[in-house]
Amino acid sequence: MLTLGIDIGSTTSKAAIIENGHKVVAKNIIPVGTGTRGPEEVFKSVLDQLHIKRNDINRIVATGYGRMKFEHADRELSEISCHGKGVRFLIPDVRTIIDIGGQDAKVLQLNDKGLLENFIMNDKCAAGTGRFLDVMASVLDIDINDMGPRSLQADAPVSISSTCTVFAESEVISRLSNGENINNIIAGIHRSVAKKVGGLAIRLGYTDHVAMSGGVARNIGIVKAMEEELKCPIAVHPDCQLAGAIGAALFAYDDLTKK
Ligand code: ADP
Repeated sequence: MLTLGIDIGSTTSKAAIIENGHKVVAKNIIPVGTGTRGPEEVFKSVLDQLHIKRNDINRIVATGYGRMKFEHADRELSEISCHGKGVRFLIPDVRTIIDIGGQDAKVLQLNDKGLLENFIMNDKCAAGTGRFLDVMASVLDIDINDMGPRSLQADAPVSISSTCTVFAESEVISRLSNGENINNIIAGIHRSVAKKVGGLAIRLGYTDHVAMSGGVARNIGIVKAMEEELKCPIAVHPDCQLAGAIGAALFAYDDLTKK
């Protein structure tokens, strides 16, 4: 039995196909999100990986910001549920999930059976999201993929005091013009995101077995800064950005097999 999950985000489109509810057999990420060619393209690409068509898939669940607009889905589900289920599949003992995507950040608390107990979300302010990091990467004229590795070279991270993206951008520009070391600026930017999102985890309350998901978890500098902020180890799976799509595919499987 094949089920497909598609996670249509603000900045990226992700899809995964799962066989019999336990094995990911196709997956892809397209770096454009809702309202673009991203959803159709990522959908077609995972079908093509298996040389199959829509009708070979038993059920499709869509999640993410753009889930309502995806016409191939049998059902839509919130990304909170799908991320919880997807991360639990990737990291079975997880209890607290910190998910940072393109335009929001959320913290989820799961019980020992993996069911969602509580969550908190910031979707009002760009600071503490992937958008903030994308803006900063562009100001610094570096690739978003290089932010993490470069921040690990920092010897004296700068302090970014502005909590607003627009003001933080001006602060970074002024640091640059003063000749501050770029790696130290990047490490300071990561600390400011970790402080902001870590604050959500502190408000919600977090337990052992913390994991990060979402595209921003691919940034090793953010993960390290968050570990320092929360003073605990944080697990990250290589498929962390696909967690929502994987969770959606697992819910599609449950729909067909659990009554
Ligand atoms: P959404 O679901 O909201 O579209 P994602 O969870 O896919 O968002 O995350 C998108 C964000 O992930 C981007 O804004 C970008 O900052 C970040 N990102 C993606 N890939 C990487 C990477 N390799 N290194 C650092 N950051 C990354």
